Formats: sequence, C-alpha cells, structure tokens
Amino acid sequence: MLPTLTERAQLDAGWRWANRFAALGPDFYTELAPQGVPEPYWVAASRATASLLGLGEDALASSAWLQALAGHGHLEGARPLASVYSGHQFGVWAGQLGDGRALLLGELAPPPGHGAGSLELQLKGSGLTPYSRMGDGRAVLRSSIREFLCSEAMHALGVPTTRALSVIGSDLPVYREEPETAAVVARVAPSFIRFGHFEHFSFGNQHDLLRQLADHVIDQHYPACRSTSAFGGNSYAALLHAVALRTAQMVAQWQAVGFCHGVMNTDNMSILGLTIDYGPFQFLDTFDPGHICNHSDHSGRYAFNRQPQVAYWNLFCLGQALLPLIEDQDLAIAALEPYKSSYADAFARHMRAKLGLADLTLESDPSLIEDLLQLLARNRVDYTIFWRRLSHMAGGTDPTTLRELFGDRPAFDAWLLRYSELLRLIPQGKAADLMLKSNPKFVLRNHLAEEAIAAAKQKDYSLVQTLLTLLESPFDEHPGMDAYADFAPAWAAGIAISCSS
Ligand code: AMP
Ligand code: MG
Repeated sequence: MLPTLTERAQLDAGWRWANRFAALGPDFYTELAPQGVPEPYWVAASRATASLLGLGEDALASSAWLQALAGHGHLEGARPLASVYSGHQFGVWAGQLGDGRALLLGELAPPPGHGAGSLELQLKGSGLTPYSRMGDGRAVLRSSIREFLCSEAMHALGVPTTRALSVIGSDLPVYREEPETAAVVARVAPSFIRFGHFEHFSFGNQHDLLRQLADHVIDQHYPACRSTSAFGGNSYAALLHAVALRTAQMVAQWQAVGFCHGVMNTDNMSILGLTIDYGPFQFLDTFDPGHICNHSDHSGRYAFNRQPQVAYWNLFCLGQALLPLIEDQDLAIAALEPYKSSYADAFARHMRAKLGLADLTLESDPSLIEDLLQLLARNRVDYTIFWRRLSHMAGGTDPTTLRELFGDRPAFDAWLLRYSELLRLIPQGKAADLMLKSNPKFVLRNHLAEEAIAAAKQKDYSLVQTLLTLLESPFDEHPGMDAYADFAPAWAAGIAISCSS
C-alpha cells in the first residue's frame, strides 16, 4: 500500500484544500485517481514553487511526496479530476478534448493571513483519462524536463506562466517516435482553465454551464468585472476585455524576450493570461521573425511573428464562445478591440526597457525599434546575446564584440549612432542598470535543454539542476557559467521539436 499523506505531512504551512473547480459539478470533469508511474524517482524539483505551497526542502526529499507527485497514494482532501474542454487546433474546430493526461489534484487555499491566493496542483502524465483519445495518458521525460525548466525560466523572466513543482521519472517505457521513458510533471497555477473550456460549453449549447463557468472565473479571478460600469455593466464583456488585456501583456513579453510558444491552439490559452502547455516552444537563437519552432506546424501558423495576431484570433474564439452571455456582438468586439493598443503599448514598453530608454517616448526617432529588429533579422544576429552586449556597451564597455555580431557594420553603426543620441539623455548608469535587468544573460535555448535531457536519460540530473539555477536568476552574471550563455552550436539548427511529447 502506498502512503497516504496525513494532513500534517501534506503542507507545512497549514494550507487546506478548497477545490472550487470541483465544486462546479460533474458536467465539468470526471473524477478519477491518478495512475502513478512505477518505481518513481526525483528528477528535479523547484524549491521556489514548493515554497509557494508552504512546502519546505524536507518535502522535496521525502518519499511520501515522491509517491504523491508520481501519482501514487492519496493526498487527503484532494479531489483528483480530469476536466473537459474543447478547442480550435491549428485554426480548425477540434471538438471535445480535455485533460487527456493531466489531473487536477485540487486547489490549495492558504492559511488565513498568508497573503497568497489559492493555487491548483496538477499532475501531467499521470495516466489515461476519459479524454485521452488515442493517447496513452503519459508524458515523456524529454518534454517534462523542457516544461519544468521553461516554466521556472519564464517566471524568473517576469513572464506570466504556470509554475512547475517537480519532475518525477520512471523507467516505464513510453513510445513516441522512438522508445522513451515516462515522467510526471507537477504544475501549479491559480487556475488551469483555458479558452477551450468556454468553447466547450458554448459550442455544445450548454449555456447554463457556460454561465456557471464564467461566473466561477469572474468570482475567483476577475472580481472587478462583477462591479464594473464599463461595457454597460455587462460582466461577461468585462471578463472578455480583462482576458484580452492580460493576453496582450503576456504575448508582448513573449515577443520582447524572443519566446515562441509553438502550439497556440485555443485549448492552450489560459483564461488568466498565463503561458501554459509548454511543448515545442523555443527561445530564438538568431533573430528570425518568421521562425517556426514546431516541426509539426507545416504552414507556419504559429511562427514567432504571428503570435500577436494568433492570440487575437484566439481571443475572437473566446469572444464568440462568450456571446450567448454577452448577448451583443458589438459589445464583444468592443471588449476585444483594446487588445491591439494594449499589445502595442506593452511591446513598446518592454523594448524601451531593453534599450534602457524606459522613460523616453521615442517621439524623436519613432522607427528606432523597428529598424533595429530589421537589422537583427537581416544580419541573423543572436537575439539574447545582442541585447546583453548592448547592455554592457551602455554601461561603458567597448562596442567591438557588439559590432562583430553584424555582417553589415555600416548599417549597424548608423543605427548605433541614432541610439546613442537618445542614450545620452538618460543619466549615466541608469540605462545600463535597467538593461541588465531587462535583457537576460541566460535563456533556455533548445540545445541546452537537449544536453540536459541527454544526460537525464543516463540518470544524470546535474545539468537540469545547473540550468534551473541559472534560469532562476537569468539576469545575474553567474561567473564561470558563460558557456551556458553562448551562441547555439551548429547542431542546434538540426533540432526538430514536434508536438510529440
Ligand atoms: P497538447 O497539444 O499537448 O496541448 O494536447 C492536446 C490534447 O491532447 C489535450 O487534450 C491533451 O490532454 C491530449 N494529449 C496529448 N498527449 C496525450 C497523451 N500522450 N495521452 C493522452 N492525451 C494526450
Ligand atoms: Mg494542451
């Protein structure tokens, strides 16, 4: 018999299960126990995410938590369930989907006075559910490590994201393009509700359930929408508007940091504007606006530079799904419209921060950012290294290594001159300080993830740990670790990451 965690052992800081999603009722999910992976072992754990739940280091070393996070045993008070949703995949209505290999264990409410909000704990890769379709309910070690590291990396970059608590490995064979082994990722977020949950009940003409879901999301996560006078006091239009704004903020950060999600289907869009479902994502190496990181995306629907428009398209699907509640198409369109300016403003703000020019409007040189992006693309410059070297140049270092990134030096020098004019308006040191906090030294490049995965397949998890440490503070210098901030090797161009995970 596998361990049942006692309430005392569950959570050091006195968190209790709230399970408000479960309270919505069985139309929204199927309750079932996880099917744990055999003979589990720790691959990685995030102390930072654990501390969000009041879990200390001892929990992350305990066999009770190892078993629980591998899908064995029972956490007292948890109500494991797989939720049902639908969605548009690659622009096409896919019908019913749902948590095919994820299980929501439950929602944890903080003790009174804790100051934190509730958090849901979900296992991914914990076995078949009624929504598994042709899948096996499992996740492979490879994609689990990628999801774990990227969740924590994105958080440290300041990008809204679901968090990752752990990766638990097992020798259970799992077959994808080749035999691999299973893993379970534990994810943490205030909610895992997706646009697709709304589409499910709307397209199924279950409008009472749609309203129940929308009311749940408003009450739990967007209470201001209830009392708003905007949109004629229509809370559902206000919800759509609020989600559009959060989504705009998230995608603006993706574009600024050079993150390509890869599978922006509506079932992979969080109602809270969190980055969710890390699959074939990629941080750009060289700046290629049309870069397609998902090997399965033959049309380039989810290419890097299409992400802002795709998010808007997805928001339209959400708007359409909410229409039975909003009851006014013009109002729905009005709620979505601010996405465009919100995205543009947020993107410009992030780019000004990257340039160290946060307080400047750039009115005197409005095409400075666009011209730079074109230069980076034409010269196939490494995106992350460029910004870091520019930051150091602003701090007074010699610009030689920065200029070396460009084949067309005269064109870059001309841009640098324009930029230097503006930089002169910022107090010395201030720009460089801001830039070093806005331009990470370390991002989870594909080849780094591949190396960590290759070692992990040999049961050496030290590189996963090293990357976690670097990515948890990506703006710090980390002396001696420059190799992890270097250009991608030539073989990285041959890495093909597909939807298979
Ligand atoms: P994704 O593209 O990973 O977001 O997954 C799309 C849908 O397929 C979701 O409903 C997943 O739960 C489901 N799915 C993906 N992989 C598997 C798998 N190995 N077993 C069961 N369901 C899966
Ligand atoms: Mg998904």
